[in-house]
Amino acid sequence: MYQLLHEDFNIVRSPKSYNSQIGVPLSVWQAGEEHSLGIFEAGISQNGEMEALQELINPTIGILTNLGEAHNEGFANPEEKLTEKWKLFKNASTIICNADTLLLVPAIAVDKRIKSWGRKGSFLKITAINKKAPFTSIDGLHKGIKISITIPFTDNASIENAISCWCTLLHLKISTETIATRMDLLRTVEMRLQLKRAINNCSVINDSYSNDISSLEIALDFLQQQAGNQSSSVILSDLGESTSSVAYDRVAQMVAFSRAQKFIGIGPQMQLYADHFSKQISRCYFYSTVEDFKQHFSFNKFKDEVILLKGARTFQFEQIDLLFEQQMHQTVLEVNLTAMVQNLKEYQRYVKPETKIMAMVKAFSYGSGSAEVASVLQFHKVDYLAVAYADEGVELRKSGISMPIMVMNPEVVTFQALVDYNLEPELYSFEILKAFDAYLLEEGMKQFPVHIKLDTGMHRLGFEKDDVNKLATLLKNNDRFIIKSVFSHLVASDDPTHDSFTRQQVSLFEAACQQFEIAIRYPFLKHVSNSAAIFRHPVFQFNMVRLGIGLYGVDSSALGTLNLTPVATFKTTIAQIRKVKAGESIGYSRKGILEKDSTIATIRVGYADGFSRRLGNWKGQVFIKGQLVPVIGNVCMDMTMIDITGIEDAKEGDLVELFGPNLPVQQVAAWCDTIPYEIMTSVSHRVKRVYYEE
Ligand SMILES: *Cc1c(COP(=O)(O)O)cnc(C)c1O
Repeated sequence: MYQLLHEDFNIVRSPKSYNSQIGVPLSVWQAGEEHSLGIFEAGISQNGEMEALQELINPTIGILTNLGEAHNEGFANPEEKLTEKWKLFKNASTIICNADTLLLVPAIAVDKRIKSWGRKGSFLKITAINKKAPFTSIDGLHKGIKISITIPFTDNASIENAISCWCTLLHLKISTETIATRMDLLRTVEMRLQLKRAINNCSVINDSYSNDISSLEIALDFLQQQAGNQSSSVILSDLGESTSSVAYDRVAQMVAFSRAQKFIGIGPQMQLYADHFSKQISRCYFYSTVEDFKQHFSFNKFKDEVILLKGARTFQFEQIDLLFEQQMHQTVLEVNLTAMVQNLKEYQRYVKPETKIMAMVKAFSYGSGSAEVASVLQFHKVDYLAVAYADEGVELRKSGISMPIMVMNPEVVTFQALVDYNLEPELYSFEILKAFDAYLLEEGMKQFPVHIKLDTGMHRLGFEKDDVNKLATLLKNNDRFIIKSVFSHLVASDDPTHDSFTRQQVSLFEAACQQFEIAIRYPFLKHVSNSAAIFRHPVFQFNMVRLGIGLYGVDSSALGTLNLTPVATFKTTIAQIRKVKAGESIGYSRKGILEKDSTIATIRVGYADGFSRRLGNWKGQVFIKGQLVPVIGNVCMDMTMIDITGIEDAKEGDLVELFGPNLPVQQVAAWCDTIPYEIMTSVSHRVKRVYYEE
C-alpha cells in the first residue's frame, strides 16, 4: 500500500508487522504533523483486544485482509473472531474486504460501509486471475467498466493483498491507468514471505513469524512457485496452536503435496508426531530445539534449492535464517570442502597406510576457517590437528571437535585452557617444560599428553642437540607427562638445492629419537614431514606427517605431479562501471593515468579485505568473464579499480575472482612478491567464509 501511495501522500506506517497491543502504539506514535496518511496494521489474538487498538488507530478506511486461521484458539469460532475484528472499524466510513469472508456473519454483511471484492464482489468484481510466472494479471469489473492490473508475483497471498490495495486506490479515486503502472512496479515487502539468496546457491523463504495451518498453506504455495523445477526443503517448528495428531497429519500431507524433498521438524511436538511425516516424505529430520538443529545438522546438505523456513515466533527461527545469509555479503571467500577432501585423498596415496596424518589448521586453517574445516577432517579420520595458539584450539573444542589437537606455541597464561580443553602442548624449551610441569604438579595431574619439538636447523623453536641427554633423563623420571610425539620441522623440503641439508636435519632428528627411545620405555610418534616433504621425501615419513598447504590445494613442491584442487575462492562484485577518457587518472595520488579511453570498473574489495596494495598499478590482475584484467591505480582500503575495456557484457553486480580455480593463488603471490601462504592467510576476517560441498 505504501509503495502504491507514497507519491500522493506523506505516509506514516507500521514498521514491519508491528500489529500487537504493543506494536500498534509504537507505530501510531510515529505519526507527526507532516503526515497526510497513516497505514497501520492491527492484529489480535483474543477477544477484547480490538477495542484498545480501535481507540489508538481510529481508522477512516478499514481493510480486512484475511481472516486466517492464526490465533483461532483465542476465539470460540470464526464468527466471533470476525465480529471482534470488525470492532476496529467502529468509526470508519469505508470498509474494504473479500466478499467471501462476509458470508460468515450475515449480520455484518449488511453493513452499508462495505466495499467488497472477489468473484462475488460488489465494488470490484474479479473476473479472471491468470498466473504466468513471474507475473499475474487480474481482471475486474468496477462500476460496470472492465479494468485490469498485472503484478510481479504469482503466490496467492500477494494476489489477495494486491486486490485489497487495488480497491483502496479505486476508493481514493486514483486513476485506473496510474494504478496499473504502479502495480507493475510492486516489490516484495520484506516482512513475512521473503525470498533471499542464501548459501550454496539456495534461496530461502523466511516466514519466521508465525506458524499456523493457513499461513503454512500460503507459504507452501509460495515455495512451490519459487522452486519450479528446483528441489525444495521445508524447515518447520511446532504449530503455534492446535496440538492434535490430526493437525500434524494434515501438515504432513500439505508438505508432501508441496513436493518438498527434505523435511526438518523442530520442537517437541514435531518429534512426537514424526511418524506422520516419515510416512510421506522421504528425507525427514527432527530436532527438539533450534540449537539442537544448528549443532547437529550440516548446512552443506542444502544446495541449489529453495528452502522454506517457517516457525512460530517463540522458536526464534531468525537464528537459522542468519546461518543461511552468509552469501549476502558481496565479498566472500568460498571454501570448497569437497576439494579439500580430494586433496587429502591425493596425499594419502603417497602416505604409507600405517603412517598417521596431522592436519595443520593453524591461522584459521590457512585462512579457510577453522571449525568447518576441522569437522570435515575429523569426519574423514585424520589422526591429529595442529594449531599455533591455545585459543585456536579452544575454539575448535567449543565447536565440537573431539580429536587430539596439538598446540605449537603454548604460553604460561594458557596452561589452564590447555588442561580444561584437553589440548596437547608442544614443549620446546626447558623453561616452558618446567613451567608446565609445575602447573601439572600443582593441579595434581598425571600423564598429560605433550609433544617434544627439536630444533634441527630451523632455529625457531625447539630443544637443541646438546639438550637431548638432559631432556631424556628429565622425561624418564616424570610421570606427569606422557610423550605423544617427538618432532622437528624441515626448513627447505620443497627445494632440491637443499636436499642434503634436509637429510642432515633428518639424521640429527633420528639420533635424538634414539636417545629418547632408550630413556622412555613406551612408544611415541615421530614426525618431520610437511606437505612438500610428504611427496618429495617419502622415506622421511616416519609414523606421522604434517599436512598443511597441500590440503588447501597448493602444491608447494611445485612439481605439478600432484593432482590438487584449489579449496578457497576469493571473490567480489562490481559496484560501478564508467567510461574514462585517455589522460585521466584513476584513484589516489593520480598513479593510474590512462593511455587510451577505457572502461573502468570499481570492485568491492580493498587492502582491508586482504587484497594486497602491492597488486595496484598494473602489477596484479583479476579474473572476470573468462579473462584476466589489470588493476588500475592504487588499491584503496575497501575498493579497487580494474580496467575492463573491451569486455562489452560486463555489468554492475558481476562476479570478479581475486584468486581461485581461474586465478591460482600462486600467481597472485608472485605478483605480490610473496608466497601463497601469506596471500591465503591475509584474507581479512571481515570477509565472510562460505562453505560448500559439491
Ligand atoms: C605450518 C607447519 C607445517 C605445514 O607446512 P606446509 O608447508 O603448509 O605443509 C608443518 N609443520 C609445522 C611445524 C608447521 O608450523
